[in-house]
Amino acid sequence: MSLIVQKFGGSSVKNADRIRHVAGIIQKTYEAGNDVIVVLSAQGDTTDDLIAKAEEINPRASRREMDMLLSTGEQISVALCAMELERRGVACISLAAWQVGFHSTSVHSDARILKIDTERIQSELDQHRVVLVAGFQGVDRAGDVTTLGRGGSDTSAVALAAVFKAQLCQIFTDVDGVYTTDPRIVPNARKLDEITYDEMLELASQGAQVLHNRSVELAKKYHVNLEVVSSLEDKPGTTVKEVTKMEKTNIAGVAKDTSIARVALVGLQHNPGVAFQVFDLLSKSNINVDVILQSIGREETKDITFTVHKKDMDEAVDILNEHKDALKFDHINTDDKIGKVSIVGVGLMSNCGVAARMFEALYEAGINIQMINTSEIRVSVLLNETDVDKAVRSIHAKFFDEV
Ligand code: ADP
Ligand code: ASP
Ligand code: MG
Repeated sequence: MSLIVQKFGGSSVKNADRIRHVAGIIQKTYEAGNDVIVVLSAQGDTTDDLIAKAEEINPRASRREMDMLLSTGEQISVALCAMELERRGVACISLAAWQVGFHSTSVHSDARILKIDTERIQSELDQHRVVLVAGFQGVDRAGDVTTLGRGGSDTSAVALAAVFKAQLCQIFTDVDGVYTTDPRIVPNARKLDEITYDEMLELASQGAQVLHNRSVELAKKYHVNLEVVSSLEDKPGTTVKEVTKMEKTNIAGVAKDTSIARVALVGLQHNPGVAFQVFDLLSKSNINVDVILQSIGREETKDITFTVHKKDMDEAVDILNEHKDALKFDHINTDDKIGKVSIVGVGLMSNCGVAARMFEALYEAGINIQMINTSEIRVSVLLNETDVDKAVRSIHAKFFDEV
């Protein structure tokens, strides 16, 4: 007998019909003799709708209360799906994070998983019940509910698969696998049969929301057998694994991220320790910084430009302004109308012509690059937000349409 973790995303459980369909998939897996742990997201746009409700009341609501609110979405899904399984005569139970003992840090809205207790889930599995766990949520030391960051139900599922040493972790979604880029932007994007953990991690971190980036990180660390499949059609999806058969193409895919904003500190002193002071302040407030660029300005000054998540931009500016006297900068510029486009592939670093092809595609499309950033298997460019989709299309065409 195998243990299988099955996660269904928001669109897969968006209404009663879809819940019935999902329950059918779960029932089939269970009746084939497997132990099944199910992780569900909130239905459809529930999380966005709850955020809108909060904004109506208090746009600067605390992150703790936001988590209290947002975690209800997943609880609705697991309860409803359990009711449908009950109706079908499938023994099951739905559980929230605090009932499982799904322990996380206290960083509300971006909590990290610390430990998952196995006793409760194991005892339910031993009683031959399907266990439905609310995704996206955790519980901190104080017993308060936390959330794991947008898209975090994937991470809940992979973490459970790791802890219970599941044979398979299936991420059911509204596409039938991982594509060379978002098929909503490029309809002729190609489906990948398999992709390495490293490539998937970079794509997910650069905005391919088909998998939450931390879910891929965990899958790699704990060797979770991970698969992205369609919840609508019964056909093979994409396997995420350590090594894949190398294809001829030198990149695995193209990703975009329009959730970022750029902050520039202009006229800093050109002294040791300035960058440390700036980024230490931001990290103490749990603000993640992505692309960083330092350039020498006029008269022995320097500028430091970096990107943060859009939601963190105002807070980052407030913190830096509060320390203006200590940091001694002239002024701050911000821009939240930017986006990032990245190419990812393990073959990238052994072939420097790949980056040049990306820049050629942007040149041919008449798109200006603001900043460039690379990792071993990725090249990213920062662009005006309005150029992002066009950039994805032209870069994708350059690598996948031309031979
Ligand atoms: P779920 O609600 O199931 O978690 P998400 O909306 O989070 O689903 O993720 C699925 C979506 O990810 C797809 O509908 C697709 O538009 C988008 N996506 C972005 N990049 C890719 C990619 N490279 N391959 C497949 N889907 C992608
Ligand atoms: N419901 C949460 C979100 O919309 C978590 C998830 O879907 O994975 O971000
Ligand atoms: Mg998702």
